[in-house]
Amino acid sequence: MRIKRLDNSVISRIAAGEVVENPSSVVRELIENSIDANATNISILVEGGGKKTIVVKDNGIGMTKDEIPLAVNRFTTSKISTLEDLKTIKTLGFRGEALYAIASVSNLYITSKTSDDELAWKAKFKDTKLVELVPVNHPTGTTVEVLDLFYNYPARRHFLSADHVEARRCIETVARYCLAHPEIAFKLVVDGNVIYDLEVAQDVQSRIMDIFGENWVNEMTWVEKKYGDLLKVYGYVSLPRYLSERPLVQDIFVNGRRVIDDTLRKAIHRAYEIHGKYPQFLIFIEIRPDRIDFNIHPQKLQVKFHRSVHIFEKVMTAVKEAVKEHLSIVKPAMHLLEIKPAPSRDIKQLELGEMLHRAEISSNHHAESTEISQEKLMAVPLFQMHKTYIVAKIHEGLVIVDQHVAHERVLYERLLSRERNTKMLLFPIMLDLPHWALKWIDSNLSVLESSGFIVEKLSGNTYVLKGIPDVFRNFEKNDFLSIIDEIRNERRVKDPTKSVLKTIACRAAVKAGDPLSEAEMQELLEQLFSTENPFQCPHGRPIFITITIDELAKMFERK
Ligand code: ADP
Ligand code: MG
Repeated sequence: MRIKRLDNSVISRIAAGEVVENPSSVVRELIENSIDANATNISILVEGGGKKTIVVKDNGIGMTKDEIPLAVNRFTTSKISTLEDLKTIKTLGFRGEALYAIASVSNLYITSKTSDDELAWKAKFKDTKLVELVPVNHPTGTTVEVLDLFYNYPARRHFLSADHVEARRCIETVARYCLAHPEIAFKLVVDGNVIYDLEVAQDVQSRIMDIFGENWVNEMTWVEKKYGDLLKVYGYVSLPRYLSERPLVQDIFVNGRRVIDDTLRKAIHRAYEIHGKYPQFLIFIEIRPDRIDFNIHPQKLQVKFHRSVHIFEKVMTAVKEAVKEHLSIVKPAMHLLEIKPAPSRDIKQLELGEMLHRAEISSNHHAESTEISQEKLMAVPLFQMHKTYIVAKIHEGLVIVDQHVAHERVLYERLLSRERNTKMLLFPIMLDLPHWALKWIDSNLSVLESSGFIVEKLSGNTYVLKGIPDVFRNFEKNDFLSIIDEIRNERRVKDPTKSVLKTIACRAAVKAGDPLSEAEMQELLEQLFSTENPFQCPHGRPIFITITIDELAKMFERK
């Protein structure tokens, strides 16, 4: 008979491989057990990359003499008893597999004491079997020692990385629980070096500060939003001006556990509407247990959300709001510009008639304040630098806007949002097209049309351009050729219409070197800050930079 049942010890080791992949997964399972046991103090010791020794000690509720051996049996858990319980699960563990899996691939010792007992008991397991149980001294709580991981599973052991790599993974794992549980004191010692020694933190912010430090936090902004009792989203996300070339810290926690969720990660990234650069974030999501299912991944690294689209959207909105708010760019742009009540000197100079008029409207407080702000807004000095940049004062300091990309963004969003309007040309333009353009036009007539161009073929290589997108103020033959040239040279065009619209926006926008009147600058800023994404032009360049008073003070070494 070719088909036979596997030996039990083989089965258990294969199954263990699903839960215990490397030393850091042991660290993860043991910490989760300590958290589930209501520990407020957890210390972790790792030696030889965790291959040699992993010890996790807690001050949780502990186990009785009888419970210790039970805990190691497969599918034994104190956390759920029926399938129904899974729906409201609040603990990190529930499958009763971890200790069994660890016991089948290591030499395991568990020492534990409950507060009701005088003595602690120390158990030794070999191949998941209890081989020794002796009374010892140990405070209330549990110490789990995992020695010689995968000693009996050479294939697994062979695939582990070098000690320092495995040690780093353990440190990262511990760091994530430290972040998710500021209410617990953690200590981590790796090969004799104290990596973390964290007291109970006031809140997650101070815990993050302990781990990442002030410099990191300074490049972040705080997000916090609550949606009834269903969902709470909070954490740090990068300020838009500190995006990085590579995704560095991008962690998402759901109900106290770090999860890997690409869709959610992308949703957060999308809140910035920026491509090619990455925000860092530590996002914590608290969600009602009946809305998620952790039971889809052996290491619970993934999670299934019910009505996930709604959740993702809410997370994205929360991030979006925080990112915009911090730059004090609030729609409409009025808030961006510094508005102060008119000084009394101005009022004295007013004509008597005006004074009376003012006295009248000032009885209506609301009316007065809006009038003053409008008046003051017109008087805000805007400054065009080198016919290229607009400089404006904001509450926090000053903002410098690149006029071309700003206008490009405004036009692009206008082109995207509403029905594209075509302006018919009084004198249609005849185009004798070069060979390369002919081929592209023939296969992309519909793209051009939906972008607002009306082009017709006359004969051979002659086309006639009858209408153009109405965003153009001055249109030249060359603009049309450049648009085709640009999109033709673009690699991997996903959405040709969008690409054409981007190029149209770029071509139609004011250029560096175009003089702008104050009114034009004013209008441009207002339009810019009512766009969806005032941060980046459609091609990904930044539109403005801010220099805060704080930064100035630093540059002048006042701080
Ligand atoms: P699960 O966590 O899914 O229940 P485990 O195999 O990790 O499964 O643990 C089995 C049981 O052992 C737990 O349900 C718990 O009752 C007990 N246990 C494990 N670790 C601890 C600990 N540090 N303190 C108290 N009890 C523990
Ligand atoms: Mg567990």
